[in-house]
Amino acid sequence: MPAKRNAMKSTPQHANIANVPLARIVQLVQRNEANNRPALEQATGLGRTAARQRIDTALRLGLIEESGSGKSTGGRTPRLLRFRSGAALLALCAISQTYAVVGISDLDGTIIDRRRLDNSIFTDPDIALNRMVDAISDMTHDRDLPLWAVGVGVTGIIDFATGTVISPPVMPEWHDVNVRSPLESRLHAPVWVDNDVNLLAVEAQRTLTNENTDNLVYLKIGQGIGAGLIVNGAIHRGADGAAGDIGHVAVPGSNVPCRCGKTGCLEAVAAGWGMTAQAVESSDDSPYLQQCIADHGEPTLADLFSPAGAADHVVGRILRTSADAIGETLSSIINLLNPSLVVIGGEGITIGEAYLARLRECVYRRSLPPTTRNLRIVATTETVTDNLEGAANLIRRQLFGDELPNWIDDGTPVDYMLASHAR
Ligand SMILES: [Zn+2]
Repeated sequence: MPAKRNAMKSTPQHANIANVPLARIVQLVQRNEANNRPALEQATGLGRTAARQRIDTALRLGLIEESGSGKSTGGRTPRLLRFRSGAALLALCAISQTYAVVGISDLDGTIIDRRRLDNSIFTDPDIALNRMVDAISDMTHDRDLPLWAVGVGVTGIIDFATGTVISPPVMPEWHDVNVRSPLESRLHAPVWVDNDVNLLAVEAQRTLTNENTDNLVYLKIGQGIGAGLIVNGAIHRGADGAAGDIGHVAVPGSNVPCRCGKTGCLEAVAAGWGMTAQAVESSDDSPYLQQCIADHGEPTLADLFSPAGAADHVVGRILRTSADAIGETLSSIINLLNPSLVVIGGEGITIGEAYLARLRECVYRRSLPPTTRNLRIVATTETVTDNLEGAANLIRRQLFGDELPNWIDDGTPVDYMLASHAR
């Protein structure tokens, strides 16, 4: 078993109280909620001297910098302050059965470089992790900036406290693989690992600024099916990291065999491999599916979700069955969690309006009115692929959220990690 202890704790710990005001100043500047000394004094409630000391410390640590002068409001023009997003780099990895991508970003999460690796590496975790480290080292090598943290998104259940993958149904080779330790020891920076759908959920929370995202369900339809849950603004991972792992929830009345060994599982009825298997089985009745098979062999999920697919009567039936089954499961989640927003993301596919309408109709029919009064169900406009942005978002939440008062004393998260190892 990998050690639960980590240089940077994965769950919020008791913050170093003495550093809270300093951390708060950095957070306010980073979030662009205050950008000059008077505004920081007001926002923190600190006196002028106490605020000045902390601002000077943040400047000395290189976490913030001066950036010209603002507008005068009567007295002297205040010097503007901004977060130094270019002070260090973040490394990002995303791995699933269909992609292996690495990248780097600045501290604001803006992706600077992104590389796609041969996704066949997913069959050997050791090789995959080594290739990812090599690619990150290559990307950071010529940039004269320190690497401060690494974020990894993996398909499957993740023990967030240890960074270990637990029994992923589509990548059995990754069962019990600790992702954090090898990356941390080779890249010399703290590492966080999370489920890929959780990262999609936090990214939706960041980007959907016109929506109420404090209670959000992100449902990803791809080869498998999974949900990321945001409850009261935070990711809900559950006791074992398995919250939202809905691919093998039973669909009432179905006895379709599933790859997990059971029958009637949601993903066997309503997601990638299950839907394409149904398409092959009923292709005799569909000129469209016969054409797909003639063109490139077994129909893909993209074939089924394409406009031409949706117009075919056999494919249409498969899509309706999928939308109904997902709608049923979603209505249970909605009755349980009462989210205000459900985001449907298609991995490599675009969710069509007819599919979404059918799913919505099923949810509203099956859910109690109080839980759906303020509910919105939307589909992402872009197809979901790798989500390095979500990995960057996760790290930034860790580094500049509850963890900041703990590491700020040591100057950088890496120094804090090394000091923690030595302590
Ligand atoms: Zn199953």
